[in-house]
Amino acid sequence: MSSAVQAERIGFIGLGIMGQSMAGHILAAGYEVHVFSRTKEKAEALLEAGAVWHDTPASLARVCTIVITMVGYPHDVEAVYLGDDGLVPNMAPGGLVIDMTTSQPALARRIHAQAAERGIAALDAPVSGGDVGARNATLAIMVGGDEAAYLRALPLFQVMGKSIALLGGAGAGQHTKMVNQIVIAGTIVGVAEALSYGAHAGLDLEKVLGVIGGGAAGGFQLNVLGKRMSEGDFAPGFFVHHFLKDMGIAASEAEAMGLDLRGLQTALHQFGRFAEQGGRECGTQGIFTLYQQQGQGAGPSADGDE
Ligand code: NAP
Repeated sequence: MSSAVQAERIGFIGLGIMGQSMAGHILAAGYEVHVFSRTKEKAEALLEAGAVWHDTPASLARVCTIVITMVGYPHDVEAVYLGDDGLVPNMAPGGLVIDMTTSQPALARRIHAQAAERGIAALDAPVSGGDVGARNATLAIMVGGDEAAYLRALPLFQVMGKSIALLGGAGAGQHTKMVNQIVIAGTIVGVAEALSYGAHAGLDLEKVLGVIGGGAAGGFQLNVLGKRMSEGDFAPGFFVHHFLKDMGIAASEAEAMGLDLRGLQTALHQFGRFAEQGGRECGTQGIFTLYQQQGQGAGPSADGDE
């Protein structure tokens, strides 16, 4: 870590499942950290560890040289960056803002352009790796923006993640995250269908996961979320409502490109049904319960309840 970067004063906005851990790593790495989040209680552990609380993004922006955001939805990103009390109107020229929320590519480009007019650099840098990756500082970080800003932010990314790349100009990080979410959409539905099949076939799912998790099907969705499915643990690591947001962004971008992505549409449909049944606040592995409701001697047909 260079001394120039250690001299940066870091702001962190959005202290939920992901943000709390990510801000914690930055604090633990020795940076001065300023925080703001919608619900102050979520900052308690960080404040005890030495972070400084602010009541608005504007107040935080005025004292920080780099501000990172990890909020929920594009409308939250827009409010935090472009609102009167937001980062772009209130940060000093020479600052750097980094949005790590999963959001829209077009919004990332708009923030980049408006920040540039005020002499502020902006990166979009969404992540993958889940609550586990945030806790263990092993996130994949997909960055869009200018190279100089990327190099300035890199020491911070290295504190939070392991697989880090600049993919192109503003919006390229969000587009890459959509690639990631399209993979996950098909994969999580596949894992839920497969474990439902295994359960109906009378197999011991723990043993099944133990063996196939080491084969070609292995990966985070199967090994981590499949395990949570088999244990009936549907607590949120990644909220269903956020996944629906992500798939909605991916679907509208794909439509604008003239692409017909049936796997994504199937996942969107299934998660929409799960949300209607009260699953919005569950973790994405909760989709397994949709498949558990079917079968009962009729065979594990994935679309048997359509
Ligand atoms: P979360 O637990 O809901 O955290 C979001 C935090 O941002 C909450 O604490 C929320 O406040 C705060 N917030 C929202 N709008 C705000 C605003 N306008 N001003 C200040 N604070 C605001 O969600 P998360 O799981 O950490 O996910 C955060 C983002 O990362 C989402 O875009 C998600 O899609 C993405 N992501 C999540 C994962 C994962 O596995 N969890 C992985 C990769 C990417 P409240 O506490 O009041 O709600």
